[in-house]
Amino acid sequence: MPYPDPRVAIATLHGKAEALRPALARVGLVPVTVAVDTDAFGTFSGEIERRADPRETAIAKARLGMTTSGLPLGLATEGSFGPDPLLGFLPAHHELLAFVDDTHGQVLVLEQTGRDSNWQSKTLRHADEAWPLLQASGFPEHAVLVRPNLFQPGMPVAKGLRDPAAVAAAIAHAAALSADGLARLDTDMRAHMNPTRMRRIAALGEALAQRLATPCPACGTPGFGLTGTEPGLPCELCGEATDLVRDEIHGCGVCGVRETRPRADGRTAADAGHCPECNP
Ligand SMILES: [Zn+2]
Ligand SMILES: [Zn+2]
Repeated sequence: MPYPDPRVAIATLHGKAEALRPALARVGLVPVTVAVDTDAFGTFSGEIERRADPRETAIAKARLGMTTSGLPLGLATEGSFGPDPLLGFLPAHHELLAFVDDTHGQVLVLEQTGRDSNWQSKTLRHADEAWPLLQASGFPEHAVLVRPNLFQPGMPVAKGLRDPAAVAAAIAHAAALSADGLARLDTDMRAHMNPTRMRRIAALGEALAQRLATPCPACGTPGFGLTGTEPGLPCELCGEATDLVRDEIHGCGVCGVRETRPRADGRTAADAGHCPECNP
């Protein structure tokens, strides 16, 4: 039995434990919701500024659940949303999962980035301008939040809205409070208000379970897997090293053993468009 106590503390108010339960069960772990208010780490709605480093934030949240519950295992997720840095207008979703394992003394961090997010944001004067955003973001299955556009501390933020009449009332109220007469309408990205994000969290749980099912070949600790990458994929035309990933580094967070493996997708050459020689 790799874990004397299989309970994993999940510090959340947002019902993530149920999304993670099936995956964790396959490796003998049991998620336990620890009701701590993680809003102190920052909120999507902006009342409390989020910390810059999602990795450190997720680990700190997992640790908070562990110290609150006294459990040696903890898990937390941290999502970031916004316009895609390359494609501008399309939404991007980055979700990070931290698994802190004090039984063996390791921290596993898994990340996924995708464009399957419903993230949207819009300023508006009247509720009848809200319909395109609501339609595009999967409302009312996905909730929205409304606040004054020129937000001052202490102003209200209406969250978790799933009723069109409540959205309209919140927009009128927020617009009246804002110095520019505008309300800001955003998709509510909290996991329990956003089934798309909850699916991404469940997928990360699957990835974690797969990793925990892989013991370290040297010391047997669960969780051997991808820890980094090495660039240098050769150009398809001239063989020059590019910035693209050439090898994957798989490692153990406990004994430090490392293995260099070729890319999992089997790609052995880079498009000449990435080559510093052929396409400088
Ligand atoms: Zn080349
Ligand atoms: Zn090891």
